[in-house]
Amino acid sequence: MRWEDHLTTNAMRADFAIDVSNIVRSAQLGGDRPADLRRLLGLIKGLVAYTRDRSTKVYGVLDWSLLRRRDLLSPDERGRLHGWRRAGLIEVIEWADGRLIELAESGGLRVVCFDNYLDLHRDHPWLPGNEDRFLEPFLGPGGIGVRPREIPIRPEWQLSGKEEERLLKKEGLHKDGRPRRELLERLWACDVPGCPLFGEDRRDHQPLPRYRSGAARCPAHGGPLTDIGPRPRRVQIKVRVGGDVQARFVLDPGQTIHVGRSPGRDGYALTADMGVTPESGVSRDHASLRWTGSQLLVTDHSRFGTRVRRKDGQVLTLPGERAFTVRKRDEIILADGVELLLSGREFVFRESPSQPAEPGTADAASVTRLPGGDRDAAAG
Ligand SMILES: [Zn+2]
Repeated sequence: MRWEDHLTTNAMRADFAIDVSNIVRSAQLGGDRPADLRRLLGLIKGLVAYTRDRSTKVYGVLDWSLLRRRDLLSPDERGRLHGWRRAGLIEVIEWADGRLIELAESGGLRVVCFDNYLDLHRDHPWLPGNEDRFLEPFLGPGGIGVRPREIPIRPEWQLSGKEEERLLKKEGLHKDGRPRRELLERLWACDVPGCPLFGEDRRDHQPLPRYRSGAARCPAHGGPLTDIGPRPRRVQIKVRVGGDVQARFVLDPGQTIHVGRSPGRDGYALTADMGVTPESGVSRDHASLRWTGSQLLVTDHSRFGTRVRRKDGQVLTLPGERAFTVRKRDEIILADGVELLLSGREFVFRESPSQPAEPGTADAASVTRLPGGDRDAAAG
């Protein structure tokens, strides 16, 4: 079979879209090289068998990075892909994921991949739970086959984490699978007077620096930045109402914020615009959150109580007027359908290398011991 006969970049003629980088780099499809073009060819054969259609056509999309890197595909394989690109048989772009989802969304193509595209779920709400638009390959006795797959529904914090990772990668702040904490945890100054990003009056809420050519640089001016000390460890809280995140607010180290329908001047008000009505069960001053710089504490002040949902689904009812330590993946339930979540997207609220990888499951010591009827004891 001539591979070229199965390739097209005409979405109207294609039957499937293929995440080429994802496929050629998937070791579970056979071979022992980190990337292998034969996995793509095997998949095309598998699709022909799956559809029982010898004229099956695929729209292959790949990132430029696959062709730029010399440690993955052989020169012959890269040459072959370049040839297909020049002939208009495959599409090579900077960010294949976005293109693939577009082809699935507007072109109606089914996408063959292993990826869950978590960082695109927020912009494309049809993705989570979708079970008719994606196929995954597998290695069977007769070669590579395909089967339908479902895109999982992921908790909010995991989406934020993926988005953050994408952002960090773009700025060169992600290395060897982890954020460059040594850069993210610092405050920076730009030499250019009045710099809008890293100038005198931006000592408080700074954007991300950009890491290029061995130095943290000003994204606006390109020059190296000067390290002027540690960045305050802030934490971001998301307000979720009826399943959708409606608002976010940030706590500085040492700050306490009251949350409710009418929590007072320095509080954070949950409004009817966000879907929090007087009938919602949220008190005027419902709970307060305190960020110590390393721990988030929640105290219930409400009439009907505040609960915490643990990562494993267990729900704890907080005792009134006593501080309770929130773990990273806990969800604070003010009333049914009104929840506060710790954002995964807070560049400093991350597992430090010295801590266990899963702080949510770390140990009972991270939970404040409640005197008296210690409802939390079972969670430890
Ligand atoms: Zn600057």
